[in-house]
Amino acid sequence: MRGDGALYARSVDIETIRGEAMGCTKCRLAQGRTNVVWADGNLDSDLLFIGEAPGFHEDKQGLPFVGAAGQLLDKLLGEIGLDRGSAAIVNVIKCRPPSNRDPLPDEIESCTPYLEAQLQYMKPKVIVTLGNFATKFILEMPVGITRARGRRYRRRGATVVPTFHPAAALRGGRFGGLSPIDAIRQDLQVVRAALDETPEPPAARPPGEPPPEAGDPAEQLGLF
Ligand code: URA
Repeated sequence: MRGDGALYARSVDIETIRGEAMGCTKCRLAQGRTNVVWADGNLDSDLLFIGEAPGFHEDKQGLPFVGAAGQLLDKLLGEIGLDRGSAAIVNVIKCRPPSNRDPLPDEIESCTPYLEAQLQYMKPKVIVTLGNFATKFILEMPVGITRARGRRYRRRGATVVPTFHPAAALRGGRFGGLSPIDAIRQDLQVVRAALDETPEPPAARPPGEPPPEAGDPAEQLGLF
């Protein structure tokens, strides 16, 4: 749970927006869906995982990451002492693309207000982007997942840690001597450390000293 729960005034009526998403017909994916896949886990937690789009099982059950990729994600979460109760899991788009094809730009655009609302509501401390689509959405720059993974970025007041999509990890391969599953494991250690960090209170400024004008150059680049 958020440390500031009782004092924290939510700025977003998430249940109303969820209701709108459930009846959404803004893009062609509405025609082929069984269920809108809104979220799973705990939207009041500090940790948000963002995937790409629902697949076959997610569409049937109305929950994200319930197929093979989701089982891998659950296992890896368990290894760092977390489960779905201690994180929220959502996707960039909420309806299944036919034959699990990549989401199209106009589908992402139509669905963006829902993910934006989820981000606004949660104000997570740590965001884990799973794969290229979520990473590009959050970082707002065209960086590939192989380069971005395991690094820490600052976006939207959160620490963002990109990692491989678990479905891609299940397909195998090697990345710098690591299997993609071990690469996710390594990246989740970065996530664990970021979650455990307590932000330093701002240092008191001597009277008359002006506030710092610019942050650390690494911070300006979005990197720690
Ligand atoms: N892949 C995703 O990106 N999301 C899901 O919910 C399932 C598989």
